Amino acid sequence: MRPTTRVRRCDRSSIRVLFDLAERTDGDLVRLEVGEPDFDTPEHAKEAAIAAIDDGATNYTSNAGLAALRTAIADTLAREYDHAYDSDDVLVTTGGMEALHLACLSVLEPGDDLLIPSPGWPNYWTQARLADATPVEIPMPFPYDLDADRVIDQMGPDTGAVMLCSPSNPTGRVFENDAVARVIDAAREHDAYVIADEVYASLTYDRDPVGMATLVGDSAHIITVGSCSKSHAMTGWRVGWLATESDVIDEATKIRESTTASTPTPSQHAALAALDGSQEPVREMQTAFADRRDYVADRLADMTGVTAPRSQGAFYAFLDPDGYDDSMALAKELVTDAGVVLAPGSGFGDAGAGKLRLSFANSLDRLETGLDRLDAFL
Ligand code: PLP
Repeated sequence: MRPTTRVRRCDRSSIRVLFDLAERTDGDLVRLEVGEPDFDTPEHAKEAAIAAIDDGATNYTSNAGLAALRTAIADTLAREYDHAYDSDDVLVTTGGMEALHLACLSVLEPGDDLLIPSPGWPNYWTQARLADATPVEIPMPFPYDLDADRVIDQMGPDTGAVMLCSPSNPTGRVFENDAVARVIDAAREHDAYVIADEVYASLTYDRDPVGMATLVGDSAHIITVGSCSKSHAMTGWRVGWLATESDVIDEATKIRESTTASTPTPSQHAALAALDGSQEPVREMQTAFADRRDYVADRLADMTGVTAPRSQGAFYAFLDPDGYDDSMALAKELVTDAGVVLAPGSGFGDAGAGKLRLSFANSLDRLETGLDRLDAFL
C-alpha cells in the first residue's frame, strides 16, 4: 500500500478516538462526546421512505437530486432563514459533509488557503487537504465570537475561501451579523468564497436564526451548506445540500457524477417529507435542546475549576478547565476515572488545546449525572 501525501496529511478526528475508547471501556459511561441528536427521525419522514421503497423508488435520481426535494430545500431556506435561493441554486448531497467536500473541490485551487476561524470542526482541515489546499487556522479570542479583523488580516492573493460555521461546532457561538457581513465583503474583494456551514442553523437559543448569505443581500461567492441531520434528527439518512450561484452548482454536480452520483432515493423521499411535512417534531426538539442548554450553562457557571461561555446555538458547550494543557490526556482520564466522555478540544485546532467539548444531545438525567461526575473530578 502506498498512501498518497494527500491522504497522509489527513488526521483522524479526536472525537472518534474518544468514541472508540468509550466503546472499549466497560461500565456506566455518560457519553457526551458525540454530536448527534438523541431523538428519533420524525414519523412522517420514516413513513415516506418506507412508501418510496414499497413503490419501487429505488433507482438513481438525477445527480442534482429529486426536483421536488430541491424545491423543498429552497422553500425551507426561505421560510426558516430568509434565504432567497431558487430550486436551481440547490444541489442535494449525501449529508452536509459531501456538500463541504464538493464546495472545497469546486472553489479551491491547489495551493489556495482555506481560512478556518477556530476552534473549528476537524472535518474542515481534511476537506482543505483533500482539495490540495492549505488549511489556515485563525484562532478566535475567548468567548469565540467571530473576530472579523483577524480573519480579514489573513486574506491575501492565496485565499481561496473562508469557512464560517455558525452556530459553531464546537463552541456553540452564534456569530454577530456585522462580523459575518464584513468577512463576506472582504472575501469577495479578494475574489474568494465564503463557505457558510449552517447545519446547526435551526438551533439558536437567544435570537432568531438567519442565513449568512441574507446578510449581504445576494449569494455571490457564498456557498450555503445545510442538512437534515441535526435539524430533523436524520444523521444516518445522509441528506444534505449546498445552495449557491448556479455556475458553482453545475461544477459541483459534475463532480457528483463520479462520486456518490445521487443521494439514496428513499432517503431523499424521507427528507422531502421531513421538510414539507409538519415541523412539530422539530419544534419539540428545539425546545428540549433549549432546556438542556439552560441546564448545562447554569451548572457550568456554578462549577469551580472550569470556565465555559454560555452556548448560544447548536448543542455544544466548550469548556476550559483550569490548569490543563493536554486535552486528550484529560479526556482519557475523565473516561477512566470519572466515567464521563467528552471530546478533546485539541481536535478543533490549536485554539482548543487544554479544552473540552461537551455535547448536550443527551437527556437531562444523563446530563445531570455527567456534570456531577465532571464537577467531582475537577
Ligand atoms: N458541519 C458541522 C459543523 C458538523 O458538525 C457536521 C456533522 O457533525 C456537518 C457539517 C455534517 O453533517 P452531516 O453530514 O451529517 O449533514
